[in-house]
Amino acid sequence: MPIRPENKDRYPDDWPTLTRAAKEAANWRCACTGQCGRGTHPGRCPNRHGQPAYGTGTTVVLTTAHLNHQPEDVRPDNLVVMCQGCHLHHDRAHHRVTAALTRAAGRAAAGQLALEAVADLAVPREPVLPPAAPAAPAPVCGEPLPFFTNSNSTQSPEAHP
Ligand SMILES: [Zn+2]
Ligand SMILES: [Zn+2]
Repeated sequence: MPIRPENKDRYPDDWPTLTRAAKEAANWRCACTGQCGRGTHPGRCPNRHGQPAYGTGTTVVLTTAHLNHQPEDVRPDNLVVMCQGCHLHHDRAHHRVTAALTRAAGRAAAGQLALEAVADLAVPREPVLPPAAPAAPAPVCGEPLPFFTNSNSTQSPEAHP
């Protein structure tokens, strides 16, 4: 797997040594036992470095995959030597999850915005004040505003002369 330029700094300096040692420890055979998720090899993947890959016949190039997709995490139990087929599938599954999480976060953000918009509508933009001197008859559009109280609250507006 070529290291993407934006991730280059995330690999330790001794990555070439680490990945070579991992391949040697795996006897230059793909060490995937299903972590790739492609489900086409029962048990350990049979692909060997430099040999034709099962299924496609393309030459196997072993790579070292990070199970948690964090390039800086080079603990042995995070590293699995994989053929390009397994590695690609492993990464693709990761990208699907990442994309799904991104979509979910987007929906959550949209829902949050929708809630905020509703809250915005529910709150009057200007405070509604009762008329200072309700001498005139109630305005045609106006219902009585029972929620507002003032010093005259014992008197209803209709009782005014
Ligand atoms: Zn494989
Ligand atoms: Zn695999």
